[in-house]
Amino acid sequence: MDPSEPGDGDHGTLADVKDDMVLPFRTERGGARGRVVRLGSVVDEILTGHDYPEPVSELLGEAVALTAMFGASLKFEGNFILQTETDGPVDLLVVDFQAPGGLRGCARFDTDKVAALQEAGDTEPSALLGHGHLAMTIDQGPETDRYQGVVPLESVDLSQAADTYFRQSEQLPTFVRVAVARHYLPGSSESGWTWRAGGLMVQHVTSEGGLEAGEDDPEVMVGEDDEDWNRVRILAETVEDHELLDPTLAPERLLYRLFHEERVRAYPANPLSVYCKCSEERIRGLLERFAADDLSDMVEDGKIIVTCEFCNRRYDFDAELFVG
Ligand SMILES: [Zn+2]
Repeated sequence: MDPSEPGDGDHGTLADVKDDMVLPFRTERGGARGRVVRLGSVVDEILTGHDYPEPVSELLGEAVALTAMFGASLKFEGNFILQTETDGPVDLLVVDFQAPGGLRGCARFDTDKVAALQEAGDTEPSALLGHGHLAMTIDQGPETDRYQGVVPLESVDLSQAADTYFRQSEQLPTFVRVAVARHYLPGSSESGWTWRAGGLMVQHVTSEGGLEAGEDDPEVMVGEDDEDWNRVRILAETVEDHELLDPTLAPERLLYRLFHEERVRAYPANPLSVYCKCSEERIRGLLERFAADDLSDMVEDGKIIVTCEFCNRRYDFDAELFVG
């Protein structure tokens, strides 16, 4: 079946995936397109693997959920990369989506500054990030042009910055919301606590354009004050964080709850997984480009140990390979 075809009935054709997936949908009445993302073990593996302080984990979890929703437009190949560079305690976030559904991500932060914010009880995303910019890059391989969109991150969270991006750069009225939390699910881990994340995005496009459009379908800008869009946006705004995160609420059910009056149709879900492209060969290639002095500084007990910043995998090399 062509994955771009809507399924039958109000609930669409539902793949048998309830977690770790992106579910595209459209509303027939107002011509809106959107996606729901649900992340269970994938976001838990990424965040637990890093074991960052809780507010940093939450922020990275939000970035992972956004990246999954935005990246899912690359159906077959390519990378979508979401990256922040800011002057706050968390100065760098990178999340990489590899089509059709691989995710990895990491953060760079100042431990003392994050601890100070936690002590002060001010761990809002805007306080953690500070000022800078959010970049979104699409790389569909060597045969194509790399595309990058950049928006300022000034005292806003990631969803607000992404919203600005779609409004200004793509001229598409957009609603974006994500939620991240730790849930107690007995049996899910040693402690029973597990990270979950979820999100909803909706965009207003007329014709057959928009999120699921083929290359030949023109996207037509419609006004923010369009009656159809307003109705859909108001319905989208009623979504609660717990609905985005609830492991017992099927995403299809959530869509029906929010948009049944709009005649919502879901498309087949796009499954997500954790991936990393690090390898011994790649790390070795990286080390070979280092200056001899820098390499000498990295030697401990005759070894150079490199840990992948995305997946925390450890690579041990004999120092003799690089240092004469
Ligand atoms: Zn790795």
